[in-house]
Amino acid sequence: MVTGPVREARTIRRAVVTGGAGFLGSHLCEQLLERGVEVVCLDNFLTGSPDNVLHLMEHPGFRLVRCDVSEFVHVPGPVDLVLHFASPASPIDYLKMPIETLKVGSLGTLHTLGLAHEKRARYVLASTSEVYGDPLQHPQTEEYWGNVNPVGPRGVYDEAKRFGEAMTTAYRTSKGTDTGIVRIFNTYGPRMRADDGRAIPAFVSQALDGRPLTVAGDGSQTRSICYVDDTVAGILAMAFSDQPGPINIGNPDELSMLRLAEWIVELTGSSSPIDFIDLPVDDPKVRRPDTTRAQELLGWRPQVASEDGLRRTVEWFAAHRTAQQARAV
Ligand code: NAD
Repeated sequence: MVTGPVREARTIRRAVVTGGAGFLGSHLCEQLLERGVEVVCLDNFLTGSPDNVLHLMEHPGFRLVRCDVSEFVHVPGPVDLVLHFASPASPIDYLKMPIETLKVGSLGTLHTLGLAHEKRARYVLASTSEVYGDPLQHPQTEEYWGNVNPVGPRGVYDEAKRFGEAMTTAYRTSKGTDTGIVRIFNTYGPRMRADDGRAIPAFVSQALDGRPLTVAGDGSQTRSICYVDDTVAGILAMAFSDQPGPINIGNPDELSMLRLAEWIVELTGSSSPIDFIDLPVDDPKVRRPDTTRAQELLGWRPQVASEDGLRRTVEWFAAHRTAQQARAV
């Protein structure tokens, strides 16, 4: 866990994590339980799976509830923290489920804010670097308003998150709800789905299978990749603070998609070639967080070097290949 000079502002005994059976959500549930916090995980398994939290099921402080938070949210008993992480998050998923994505970003945010308000709980919205769209400012500071095409294919995700930020801000300003917004940049690590269309799981599984790595465009577009343990530490620093945000959580180390693909070929010892495919519509050309706010206000900065994080991710995918292949069928 990354700690800094900032003191934790609150005691949290019981947390609700929406989307807790997904990639980030399952790591959040795990870390909260490790800190002695009881966790109620709400998920409809749209893009996540109970498999991601199977190892937590015996934990006395953990409860998994099947629930579509776009429809209705009800949690009996006290709640000190609501982390709203439910949403399809990879382009493949949200392009396949545009309405569900818009609903969970709007109605899901409304319902979970209502829960936090009713319980007088701290609320943290999982927003995204996608609110910056194809950015005209580089690196992206939280003051930048973004460059999003509302009617482009990615608009369903980007605009849902932008709406979620506006709704979260309105609850803070008009109802006094204790809210925080984190803008999460590309995160990777164990429990990503090999077939979710995001670059790292796609490259790793292609390399492990000896298939060509499919790099979009000429591969010169950049991303900044953050290992999941670092992202989760940043989110929890926000959850335990009294900061409203938005605060960028990401790793400022920026690399091109071609370099990333070559690196994964090296780390897996694969002989896979690289194939260049069409660039998706409205694909951002660059992406890098300015993390000054996170450092100053949360005392957080990423600790895991990309090489180390990528090695751990490759090891996890290598160990879970059979299960991943079975799930994809
Ligand atoms: P994921 O798809 O692995 O997890 C999302 C979870 O939400 C899944 O378990 C899914 O079943 C659940 N879900 C979706 N709709 C739901 C609904 N209506 N009701 C209940 N559960 C629902 O994605 P992830 O990568 O873990 O992302 C989690 C959150 O973090 C998302 O809100 C995403 O926008 C945000 N985020 C992630 C990244 C990243 O790099 N992973 C970057 C920026 C923001």
